[in-house]
Amino acid sequence: MWQATFSEADDRPALCDDDFVTSTWIEPASTATALLLLGRGTDPASERGVDCPGDLPAPSDPDLVARATAAKAALGDRVFVLGHHYQRDEVIQFADVTGDSFKLAQQAAARPDAEFILFCGVHFMAESADILTTPDQKVILPDLAAGCSMADMAVLGQVETAWERFEDLGITGEIVPVTYMNSSADIKGFVGRNKGVVCTSSNAKRALDWSFEQGSKVFFLPDQHLGRNTAVLEMGFDLDDCVLYDPHKPGGGLTDDQLRNARMILWRGHCSVHGRFTLESVREVRERVPGVNVLVHPECRHEVVRAADYVGSTEYIIKALDAAEPGSSWAVGTELNLVRRMALAHPDKQIMFLDRAVCYCSTMNRIDLPHLVWALEELVAGRVPNQITVDPDTAHHARVALDQMLALP
Ligand code: SF4
Repeated sequence: MWQATFSEADDRPALCDDDFVTSTWIEPASTATALLLLGRGTDPASERGVDCPGDLPAPSDPDLVARATAAKAALGDRVFVLGHHYQRDEVIQFADVTGDSFKLAQQAAARPDAEFILFCGVHFMAESADILTTPDQKVILPDLAAGCSMADMAVLGQVETAWERFEDLGITGEIVPVTYMNSSADIKGFVGRNKGVVCTSSNAKRALDWSFEQGSKVFFLPDQHLGRNTAVLEMGFDLDDCVLYDPHKPGGGLTDDQLRNARMILWRGHCSVHGRFTLESVREVRERVPGVNVLVHPECRHEVVRAADYVGSTEYIIKALDAAEPGSSWAVGTELNLVRRMALAHPDKQIMFLDRAVCYCSTMNRIDLPHLVWALEELVAGRVPNQITVDPDTAHHARVALDQMLALP
């Protein structure tokens, strides 16, 4: 049964009061995909960020923690380190603040005195930080290969092609483009230019409510699941109100009538991490752990979200687990680093990963301690590595869409 809202900040799910269960964190089985050693020089031409100018410390260097500590101390208030919840513990320990992508962008903007914003996250997050910080501040991503597969599924040229199709049909006047925070600055800029709005997994419903006051259709980028789950489960739309625009098919794979009749035009993008959870994962854990609470992120597939007990953003998931009764059991469908951290932080609750197989975000995991040490020591040496910049025109329009989000009622 689906019970929870999509995580307004203060929402708390009703928590169960099962008998006390001692936490026993069981590491999910590894898979070949999850354990691929990315960025180890197997294909340097295609793996951006593999070759750091200078020396990337060896992962086996026993002094990495001491080196990172010393470099960060040498930089003092000149550097502000942001750590996304999905980052490795070895990196998170050096973060001045942790959070989801939106919270981190806000935190970056709240530190105008920090000369360097070192972003331990992925590329689109560093872009957002650059858009929201002052021109003098420099945003650094320790490994340029830390991208996001979902953000990469919506490329500006493809989105403009779709928009041209809508223009040919004469429906752009009815459409409000909405993009999830997990998108490139180019896509946010497109949305700002076309009077749309950015949303997060916490405020997607408010963004859609606002959008349907401006027009009769929404063009939702790039996460089909967040768009569908919000429209159907939060706003009472039918699945038939939603159509899927596939940029790899002529005309998006949709007929003129389908586009004219649709209320939600969903871009065919998804998160490769959250997309791995299946209905079978939910059934299996319910059989294995009687009374378990299934808690998932709205980037999961529609059928998984429907089968879950609670659904919400990363911040919601953290608050729900923090507030859970001792002894309660939770199967959590989100990135593994976060689930493991929550399980270890709450030994009085049984917190487990929803799937039996490892499900790290491989691009998030590219930011490791060697890259962090390298970036910090480069800054100490007076060099600025891997700076992320957004061109002024794109930044201006992306900022319009971000500001519209901040102004949502
Ligand atoms: S978890 Fe998914 S949405 Fe988040 S950075 Fe990784 S691929 Fe992108």
